[in-house]
Formats: sequence, structure tokens, C-alpha cells
Amino acid sequence: MTEHHPDTGATPRDPVRVRAAGATHVGRVRPGNEDSLLCRAPLFAVADGMGGHEAGEVASSIAVEELDRLLDEQRGPSVEGLRETLHRAAARIQALSPGSALAAGTTVAVVATVEIEGGGYWLVMNLGDSRTYRLSRDGLEQVSVDHSVVQELVDRGEITEEQARRHPYRNMVTRALGAGASNEPDFWAIPAEPGDRMLICSDGLSGEISDAAIERLLSGEGTLEQVCERLIEAALDAGGHDNISVVVIEATDVVGSEGAPHDDTTGPRPRPGDGDGTR
Ligand code: MN
Repeated sequence: MTEHHPDTGATPRDPVRVRAAGATHVGRVRPGNEDSLLCRAPLFAVADGMGGHEAGEVASSIAVEELDRLLDEQRGPSVEGLRETLHRAAARIQALSPGSALAAGTTVAVVATVEIEGGGYWLVMNLGDSRTYRLSRDGLEQVSVDHSVVQELVDRGEITEEQARRHPYRNMVTRALGAGASNEPDFWAIPAEPGDRMLICSDGLSGEISDAAIERLLSGEGTLEQVCERLIEAALDAGGHDNISVVVIEATDVVGSEGAPHDDTTGPRPRPGDGDGTR
């Protein structure tokens, strides 16, 4: 689905030119940080590991390592490339603790910039309960849908978003890489607009502060490093019960964003899988 510049020798033009920053913090309660992140254009990711005896830390760093390798091997991220990367990472993670019910696992949340039919897009991939938000001219929108027990309860109307935040099962994911869970990711493709800010975060942020607080801090002034720092400080002030990771990506220039109107068939939050023809 990623279209490349036909001139193979020259540097391909970036479909979305970005600036980005990322930060991670152990929090105030957990003994170690099991989150990992990747901040390397055109690919950005947060992985939140799970499993005892440092298995989570290893699982999340394997996910990020394999994504990093994808950048070295391919000329641009694609749905197919990301799927292959997940399979490679899953095999490595499963080999860590064969047959164990409390196996190592990790969430994987990815934002990549891609070109689709001459336009610059955000390609969002989610597996687990780390989140991707988009701050655009229209405000903040949660792009990804959590693969979690409480999200299923919210979808069925059994509990509210607010109750989900405090629910005893709030940390239970229904999909993940490894950990014996389904590892089928969801994808979204969203037309990028100059000025958009994408946020990828672990649940140490989204479980700690409200979407309204995220919107206020994400639209803040200063450098993106400062924006990341303020998000982490807010989660720490709220208790810092979990590891906190954030990656903020801002579109400074987008191909196809001038003149030609965007194809509006892929809205900000379509059903999972829409927009790229795969599921
Ligand atoms: Mn977490």
C-alpha cells in the first residue's frame, strides 16, 4: 500500500514530514520500567511489556528492536511489513517462556507515516491497550480502540469509561504480542494534516489522566520534548501507578495537502481495518 517515489536512487520524498520526541518514566510504584519506545521517523512505537521476572521488559524491547530492524530492511513501513515484523517478534517472545501460562507479552502501538495515492497518511496499528490519539484542528480524538476486558464491557454498555478507569480488570488485555493472547493487530489510515499532533502512550498515561488533560497538555507550547515532559509529570502527579511512556509526532509538511482535497472516505475512527482493505 505504500507507494514509493519511482526514482530509486534518490532519497524518497517523505509523505509526511515530522518532528517528534519521546520519553519514558518508571513511575512512582513499579520497581522497573517494562515499557519500550521507538522514535525514528517514519516509524514510532510504544510497547508495554507484561510477565514476571523481567519478561515484560524483554518482550517490549524485542518488539521495538524488530520494528527498528524493519526500518533498516525496508524503504518504508507498510501494513505487510508491520505484520511480518509482529510475527518475527512474536516468535522470539514465545521462545522466552515456552508453555508457561504467565508467559511474556507486550502491547504494540505504532504510528507510521505513509504515502497512499499521492497523499500523506498516518498509518496507525494497535495490539493491546496502549493508545494512539490524534490532535487536529477538530480537537483530540482517540484513534485506537483498546483490546481490553474493560473496553469490551464499555462497548456492551455494562460500564462507563469512568468506571473502566477504576475497574479491577483495567489492566487485563484481550490481545497482545505473546502471552498466549491473540496477536491480530488493528490498522487505521488517516489523512495527515499539517499541524496534526499524534500521541502514542502506554496506559500509565491514559489510565492516570483524563482525555481533557491529555488534550490540554498535547496542545501546549514549547518543544515536543517539553510536551512529553509535561505529560509524564501530570501522570506522576496523578499517582504514577504504572510505567509511563509517550511519543509525540507533529506533521510539519504533508504531500498532497495543498490544493487537492483529501479523500474523506477514511475518517478519524473507522471500524478497525477500514482504509487499507485488510483486517
Ligand atoms: Mn502499563
